[in-house]
Amino acid sequence: MTDMSYRELRSGEFWRRIPAYADVDEPTFLDHLWQQRHSVKTPEELLETVRDLASPEFIRDARLGFHRAPMAVRVSPYAVALVDWSDPYHDPIRKQFIPVASALLPDHPRLTFDSLHEQEDSPVPGLVHRYADKALFLPVAVCPVYCRFCTRSYAIGPDTDNVDKVGLAKTPKQWQDVFAYVGAHEELEDIVISGGDAYQLPPKNLELIGNALLDIPHVRRMRFATKGPAIMPMKLITDHAWVDALAGVVERGRRMGKDVVLHTHFNAPEEITEITQRAMRLLFERGIFVRNQSVLIRGVNDEPERMQRLVKRLGYLNVHPYYVYMHDMVKGVEDLRTTVQTAIDVEKFVRGSTAGFNTPTFVCDAPGGGGKRDVHSFEHYDRENGIAVYAAPSVKPGRTFIYFDPIDRLEPAARERWQNERVAGEMVHEALRRAGIGDASLVIA
Ligand SMILES: *Cc1c(COP(=O)(O)O)cnc(C)c1O
Ligand code: SF4
Repeated sequence: MTDMSYRELRSGEFWRRIPAYADVDEPTFLDHLWQQRHSVKTPEELLETVRDLASPEFIRDARLGFHRAPMAVRVSPYAVALVDWSDPYHDPIRKQFIPVASALLPDHPRLTFDSLHEQEDSPVPGLVHRYADKALFLPVAVCPVYCRFCTRSYAIGPDTDNVDKVGLAKTPKQWQDVFAYVGAHEELEDIVISGGDAYQLPPKNLELIGNALLDIPHVRRMRFATKGPAIMPMKLITDHAWVDALAGVVERGRRMGKDVVLHTHFNAPEEITEITQRAMRLLFERGIFVRNQSVLIRGVNDEPERMQRLVKRLGYLNVHPYYVYMHDMVKGVEDLRTTVQTAIDVEKFVRGSTAGFNTPTFVCDAPGGGGKRDVHSFEHYDRENGIAVYAAPSVKPGRTFIYFDPIDRLEPAARERWQNERVAGEMVHEALRRAGIGDASLVIA
């Protein structure tokens, strides 16, 4: 029998189990302003919200976790209500947004801060121009939630105890430099508007950006990227001005023969409820196409059955699963990373379970700025020591990039080898030699 339980979505007033939301009715819970105002940002707010649902040990652990994390904490009531507070340590929503000190692992010795080297490929503040015909625009540095695993923890969110953030282009005046750059580069056809998060753009700024880019003749495709539908779907139901602004840009684009879509970021099947279904239905009815990009996260979606469930559930809502990313080599979240081999195994299981166009490509955004590579396309993969070597001939010709598996996932002998810097250096050299890379000076890692 085919398992069809992926179609059974959580419904009803599930949030009322949370002590602070016990008296919250549906219209209030669906109000996006209420969701924003009641987002949890501190350990004190977490305690006030969940009260005795969480054990004192957990709250103490989270308090230390908040203090050590490279990202600020911000969790929507919707996400808080989806956590299974009887077992928060294993909960896939909790893992993404609420750090606990006891789970933290030491960073990989080869990990750097801006792992993707975005700042090196940034010709003007707030724009990353890495690929021939497409660029990434970062017009906002805030998000409706903060993900622990954020690639851009170097820039996103308020400063934390551990990190002072790099500035992005955050004002309409600074955006003019980005529009001028895009306008002057005729090869650019495709602009990703991310951040931060397009959910946080006021409707008039979403329109301003959308229209300015549509007005550039050589821009043919645009995508607004947001985590929002995954953790605050009700905004699409109750923030009419924002949805109207997006729909306006999509419709104007369509009249101009240009493609404007929404990219979102669901990671766990539990993030998708009946509220999500209503929200996605509204976008679908307005002709707004939605694609999803997930991150492969240990304990969240790295089991084949869970990823398959996520993929099938997204397809059921007319959201196209586009990518599953290897977790970037980001500071302070080693407990969330997993191995390239895991990605290969999960992909093998998922492919074949639904339409090919609803089957995501598993990619590794190569550390050092190589861009996204199909996880299977390595030049060499030393599984024992967790060293995957990639090349990117159309992005950075002649250069080589290495992704390192998390060390705690390796066998004891390999873990020990990583403790010795000289031995580790030899392992990396050997992997490059086997990949056929003679000249180590061409390597970025
Ligand atoms: C991911 C990304 C893009 C878009 O790449 P696609 O593979 O087309 O989704 C563009 N620019 C940068 C810098 C990116 O990281
Ligand atoms: S929503 Fe995106 S940009 Fe914001 S914290 Fe999460 S991963 Fe980072």
